[in-house]
Amino acid sequence: MNQDPEKLLEQLSLEEKASLVSGTDFWYTTAIECLDIPSLNLTDGPAGLRKQAGDSDALGLNKSVEAINFPAANLIACSFDRKALQELGERLGNAAQSEDVSILLGPGINIKRSPLAGRNFEFFSEDPYLTGELGAAYVKGVQNKGVGVSLKHFVANNRENQRFTVSSNIEERPLREIYLHAFETIVKDAHPYTIMCSYNPLNGVLNAQNRTLLTDILRNEWGGFDGIVLSDWGAVADSAASVQAGMDLEMPGKGKASQQAVVEAVQNNQLAVEDLDNSVLRILKLIQQLTDNAQTDPSYDKEKQHELARVLASNSMVLLKNDEQVLPIKEDDSLLVVGELADNPRSQGGGSSHVNAYKVSSPLENIQSGHSNVHFEQGYHLDQTADKNLSSKALEAAKKADKVVLFAGFPESLESEGFDKDSLLLPENQNRLIQEISQVNDNVVVVLQNGSVVAMPWIHQVKAILETYLAGETVGEATWDVLKGTVNPSGKLAETFPQRVEDNPTALTFNASTIDENYREGLFVGYRYYDKKKLAPLFPFGHGLSYTTFAYQDLTVEEKENNFILTVTLSNTGKVAGSEVVQVYISNQTSNIEKPEKELKQFEKVYLEPNETKKVKIVLDDSAFMWYNVDKKDWQIDDGSYLVQVGSSSADIRLTQEVTIQKGTKTHPEVTSDTYIADIMKRDDLKDLIATTEFGKTLNNLIGDDSNSKMLENIPLRAAEMMGFSPAQVKAFIDKANEK
Ligand code: BGC
Repeated sequence: MNQDPEKLLEQLSLEEKASLVSGTDFWYTTAIECLDIPSLNLTDGPAGLRKQAGDSDALGLNKSVEAINFPAANLIACSFDRKALQELGERLGNAAQSEDVSILLGPGINIKRSPLAGRNFEFFSEDPYLTGELGAAYVKGVQNKGVGVSLKHFVANNRENQRFTVSSNIEERPLREIYLHAFETIVKDAHPYTIMCSYNPLNGVLNAQNRTLLTDILRNEWGGFDGIVLSDWGAVADSAASVQAGMDLEMPGKGKASQQAVVEAVQNNQLAVEDLDNSVLRILKLIQQLTDNAQTDPSYDKEKQHELARVLASNSMVLLKNDEQVLPIKEDDSLLVVGELADNPRSQGGGSSHVNAYKVSSPLENIQSGHSNVHFEQGYHLDQTADKNLSSKALEAAKKADKVVLFAGFPESLESEGFDKDSLLLPENQNRLIQEISQVNDNVVVVLQNGSVVAMPWIHQVKAILETYLAGETVGEATWDVLKGTVNPSGKLAETFPQRVEDNPTALTFNASTIDENYREGLFVGYRYYDKKKLAPLFPFGHGLSYTTFAYQDLTVEEKENNFILTVTLSNTGKVAGSEVVQVYISNQTSNIEKPEKELKQFEKVYLEPNETKKVKIVLDDSAFMWYNVDKKDWQIDDGSYLVQVGSSSADIRLTQEVTIQKGTKTHPEVTSDTYIADIMKRDDLKDLIATTEFGKTLNNLIGDDSNSKMLENIPLRAAEMMGFSPAQVKAFIDKANEK
């Protein structure tokens, strides 16, 4: 593009402008050749390129170019490793450059609100801080290579059933603190080129027509977002209303119909031409930026990328259980490998993220070539067909093996984009086989391949469980790397595994209606809920074992230049090298608001040789202590006490320190006639006033002496006349209290 976008805008006709704000086909923006405006290619993401050269679709049905299939977001999130995410982003950026892709449609950063949500495999976590940190690193990686991302799906697209129409009904505080939070972090920290607006309405207003969301919050309030908002594929119901709301690019667009609607809306004064111009200008600037970035000779070595995918996958796998150190597999163990998934692994999710993988490795082949004493039995059919013969053969073989490695998981038919799940239980034939085999063999290792949380009725019968989620095309090598101990597992769960699906906070509301999805649990999503209810999960958020052990000592917290600097001494007390994720949770002891017991606010992955000790330094800034004040429409920190909790998971806190904040909002609100006596008596800063004023003294005596003091304290000042005070006395006290 040779001309300045502002100048180009002046030369465009209304029809040309309208053609720029919708796609020309499935994957391209509209080109205007006479003005030398090229079109951009947009391609899915997020775990590899799905560039379609032939027939196009948004659901991963038709073939795409061959590309490296990296681990899905559900697995890579368990790395808790910002560097790994940035590296992944850079490799995807390379691939995009080499395939002439300008915008990669990802990462998906929706919150895993319900474990039944069908698309959880494409998202990072139930926790907004972790999601924001990992998402920002991914975005920086892709964009470092001159390719734009599309951060998706904005916002509150947390279920698949009726995803085009069901309204996500969320109160403002959880909306800000849970669902918008990661978007805000990434917009401010990583400056994504584009954001994809999701299908659903939010509190009754279609996101694609929601000006509060797309313009007021995203552009004006968060500042800094100068990219474009594009629609999810087919999300636009009214093209002109979307432009008016700040949605710049309708994808894939309804061809002439979309353009005509925009032209007519301008001609009928239903859409201000300024709004259209704003969108067109943003699109022109984006086209200019991305075409300037295009590289003619990018390096894209698929073999190297495959090797990196293997490292990313193995470093993210989560060892959920390992009784009696049954893992790693020892050289002289006789092994029985069971399961169709060992031979024919499920390595990626279904739908728009589906990649035509470069080369998928099988766990079975890797085990067979890396271990001398291996026997294989299929054990079950993934399609759930009953087959007594298969299971009997596996049972017989299990009696003779030292250890059984049983691959289990969900088939794609039960878990994909486009629909939600009904159950967390694995197919019945697999659950039965795990139970039967563990009756004849004491050393059963279950390896899971799945999109999200699995219920485990057999948990106490098996010795070890390795969660590999959807590991991408190197599932074979990476799984064997961890099973045999070449890689010491260091992944941590980015979502809670509840004991039962009914324990989940959304159990009462998820998919209850086809019209409204009511987020009644508010802030209490994932571990925030289980903590508060003191409900022990099957495996807590942040959990993951290692083949070594780590000791935490000497937590110190120092206040420096507006931040808190934490140091903790971490030692590898076992016999093999390994990495630990040091997790920092903050527990607000101060604010008089609904609040979780604790929230993740920092983490650091640390590598240690055996017997090595490191001092780990972690910085907490103001954002670690903030909550969103709906009345003030702003983030707030309150003065008072907070616990800094450092641990190996959300349920395994090793060290705690109290810190006091003295720079925020006073937690004492103004005293008014509605203030309760109890709240006055509690306040240290009013003690003098109570001791010295007539009103205070009398109040003190009255409350101190009376056996009904609790009842009296539960009376507001405006009703103090019942206790014998005059309105003038009360007013004088209020005035003095507020002078403080
Ligand atoms: C999905 C998006 C995807 C788009 C294009 C939609 O159905 O929700 O995540 O990027 O299709 O394939």
